[in-house]
Amino acid sequence: MKTSIVRAGLQFALAGFIAAFAVPAVRAQVELTGTTMGPIRYSVKIESLPDGLTREAAHAIVERELKLVDGLMSTYRNDSDVSRFNQSASTDWIDVQPETYAVVARALEISELSGGAFDITVAPLVNLWDFGPNPADRTQKPNDQEIADARARIGYQKIHVRAEPPAIRKDDPQVWIDLSAIAEGFASDRVAAALVEAGAQDILVDIGGEIVARGKKSDGQNWRIGIVWPSDNELISKEVAELKESGLATSGDYRNFVIIDGVRYSHTIDPKTGYPIQDTLASATVIAPDCMTADAMATAVMVMGAHKGHLLCAQLQLPLLTYERRGEEFVLRKSPDFPTPANAVAAVNQNAWPVFVAALVIFGLVVAGMAIGVIWGNRRIAGSCGGLANMRDEQGNIACAMCTRPSEECRDPKKWQVDEELETENDTESSHDRY
Ligand code: FAD
Repeated sequence: MKTSIVRAGLQFALAGFIAAFAVPAVRAQVELTGTTMGPIRYSVKIESLPDGLTREAAHAIVERELKLVDGLMSTYRNDSDVSRFNQSASTDWIDVQPETYAVVARALEISELSGGAFDITVAPLVNLWDFGPNPADRTQKPNDQEIADARARIGYQKIHVRAEPPAIRKDDPQVWIDLSAIAEGFASDRVAAALVEAGAQDILVDIGGEIVARGKKSDGQNWRIGIVWPSDNELISKEVAELKESGLATSGDYRNFVIIDGVRYSHTIDPKTGYPIQDTLASATVIAPDCMTADAMATAVMVMGAHKGHLLCAQLQLPLLTYERRGEEFVLRKSPDFPTPANAVAAVNQNAWPVFVAALVIFGLVVAGMAIGVIWGNRRIAGSCGGLANMRDEQGNIACAMCTRPSEECRDPKKWQVDEELETENDTESSHDRY
């Protein structure tokens, strides 16, 4: 009866011990890539496809969502909700799809929060500076009159939204909207939600740098994103963000710009001046619960500048990382809540303690179980117990007798003692060689 209890205890303890250290099996990651919204490249990583969802079906879901957003919000297509709204001179409600309503409504909220720095009615200025659908390869700056005329057509306060039935309207027939600074983030949210609905759990969606993380990587770690160093000539990351069920977006002046008379003009327009931003801010990376918010807020911070951008993001509790130009250098500024792996590791260590203690207890149980097995059941420990060769019990007998298959050195310790002395001599020589 005794030995079977001990053996059961041992087996239980051993199973627990193995479970505590079991490394999750690495699952096969699937990556889906393509382009959307003109030149924008996308990548969608799924840590393991759920049963019943093939790679092809998952890719079809991604493409479906991206085509929906492109079809509703592109200013490069005449049949989109946005183009129909822009070309209409009506100031009545214009019916749109629920998705277009949702994006315009959120854009107006962010315009309010940012004091108008984010403003989707900048479309006339975007087009004037050659960043819109019909670039004229401008070689000189628009003149003051052109800028004044375009500025007269903008102002987010001139736009209104209605949820049921979904519709938008404008106070001024000349108002046009441009959703380029928020629609990509919305598309990332949509793709992630559609894949989760199809059963996928651990996903990383990246549409032109607008990123959504769901679940974890197959090694159990959170998703980690390198933040691009805003230099023109090297594509590197010097900072990493660790994402948990959130969205991340970066806006910058280093990818999409025109150079006129030797001056760089970025595609982010300050609605107040009618000019592309002239601030020292090179890039802004925002993390938010949803990517649509992160996307719009990143553009808002680019217009507001680093100081006001950090104040607003702190108020909204949105982690923010900015790079400011200082001559040839970039000055990094990170909000205290920006989740870099170092902080995350500290957080994980706190969570790791219970696992570590549990493993220690289980390990203790295993050793105790083995000891009980030997002492109580007078059972010899399975194996060769090589390390016991020099141990003796109270009567001076070599401890090897406790093992089922005592090793060579156990059976004939004299023989091994001489060799061991030799070995020690040799070791000393080789350690000198090493120096
Ligand atoms: P962000 O940095 O996120 O935002 C900058 C953009 O937002 C600017 O390009 C401008 O359009 C706008 N903006 C500037 N200032 C402000 C401001 N103060 N407030 C609010 N918005 C501002 N491009 C093509 O060449 N071909 C296409 O077919 C095409 N289709 C598209 C379809 C859709 C649905 C969308 C959204 C864009 C499309 N584009 C297309 C545009 C292209 O994708 C944009 O260059 C891209 O969206 C800019 O993304 P970004 O992350 O660099 O911009």
